[in-house]
Amino acid sequence: MPFSALGLSGPILKALAEQGYTAPTPIQARAIPMIMAGKDLIAAAQTGTGKTASFVLPILEKLKDGRTEQAKRIRALILTPTRELAVQVEKSIAQYSMHLSLSSMAMYGGVDLEPQKQGLIEGVDILVATPGRLLDMANQRAVLFDEVEVLVLDEADRMLDMGFIGDINKIIERLPRQRQNLLFSATLSEDVRFLVKTTLYDAVEITIAADTPTSPEIDQCLITVDKDMKSALLSHLIKEDQWDQALIFIQTKHGAAKLVGQLEKRGIKAEAFHSGRSQASRMKVLADFKSGDLSFLVATGIASRGIDIDELTRVVNYDLPDEADDYIHRIGRTGRAGASGEAISFVSLNDFRNLCAIESRLGHIIIRKEIEGFAVRKLVPVSILDYVPKNRNSSSGDGQDTRRAQGKKNSASKGQRKTSSRSNKSGKTGNYDEPKKPSGGSSSKSNIWGKWGA
Ligand code: AMP
Repeated sequence: MPFSALGLSGPILKALAEQGYTAPTPIQARAIPMIMAGKDLIAAAQTGTGKTASFVLPILEKLKDGRTEQAKRIRALILTPTRELAVQVEKSIAQYSMHLSLSSMAMYGGVDLEPQKQGLIEGVDILVATPGRLLDMANQRAVLFDEVEVLVLDEADRMLDMGFIGDINKIIERLPRQRQNLLFSATLSEDVRFLVKTTLYDAVEITIAADTPTSPEIDQCLITVDKDMKSALLSHLIKEDQWDQALIFIQTKHGAAKLVGQLEKRGIKAEAFHSGRSQASRMKVLADFKSGDLSFLVATGIASRGIDIDELTRVVNYDLPDEADDYIHRIGRTGRAGASGEAISFVSLNDFRNLCAIESRLGHIIIRKEIEGFAVRKLVPVSILDYVPKNRNSSSGDGQDTRRAQGKKNSASKGQRKTSSRSNKSGKTGNYDEPKKPSGGSSSKSNIWGKWGA
């Protein structure tokens, strides 16, 4: 089916063609007509499915003939959990609306308020914002909601996990009652369903079904390795297999800095990406990585969602994430939009519990590889699907820190830039970027990866 069959108008079709899109993805094919019909919508969809365009395109279609000229007013509001996703979504809006005269802006915390206030002075058609900063601005009456026609809650499950529910509710209370609501979420957990119930009206629900929760284009494998040999193994693979680029996920900020140092000692240039770095340096590092000037990015989980790096061929889980869904999000950074990708996980005995949870979520075990010279001293058992051992040997020291950090509500995660005081009332900076989901709350098996026309 071509995009034109969805009823999108000329300037939008032209922009899509310029992006090289030939056909809608499954979520786009299903969501766009519903949204254009004015329906409220719940969509179970992860990043990598084309979900952003599935709500941005019909919003552009809806708003294209008018323009806000009212000071501080906005017409569409998109809430995202992180600043990176806000920037990413706004970038997509700018691309898809390049032949329209609509304005858009991304707004997030941790940076000076003033330029954002200035940006809002003449009104903005589409505002993409993280909840904490938006509420600050609303409290200062720097943004007014009385013209909002559409609300999008993007990555709703993530926003709830990050403790944004209070802020979201306060924002929603201020919106006009007559509006269209769209909610996108990787999982439709009970919390998300409750939000749906209180926010959406007579909503249509879309789940993109597929046989597996991961893209068929991603080659997954795991390498068993003793914990103290992981950095040597990584350097070995980078050099021996002549890797050109990799996004390497690691559990802690401290671990990221340490690994960057270890790689550099072996002559491999890498940069760390985590919430402890200033927003400016994070943006710079990400831009360098995207442009190919930087080959190796060592990131905490904060980079696992929303970051859209075209043509990323390889993701490494240096540590396995605590949550199976995070594994899927991480490896979803590669193999995007039909391209092929490789996801390699380093697994030592202390990762075993997480491995069991991930393999049980995937519904299959991950192919194991052995690398000569890196035989393990501590064998990692093969997991029995659907059985997740109790939390005894999970992540030794790291895991304990994780639990401590989780106790602090959302250390660096309140959608704010840098480590904003708003986001961390203790004033301290947690060592972890990702607050943990409440256990047991995850994964209805939302299967989202469909293939679509290249
Ligand atoms: P998203 O799920 O919104 O993060 O999008 C994932 C990637 O798919 C982005 O790089 C988009 O530019 C790309 N994309 C979205 N829609 C299409 C399409 N219809 N055809 C090809 N690529 C697309």
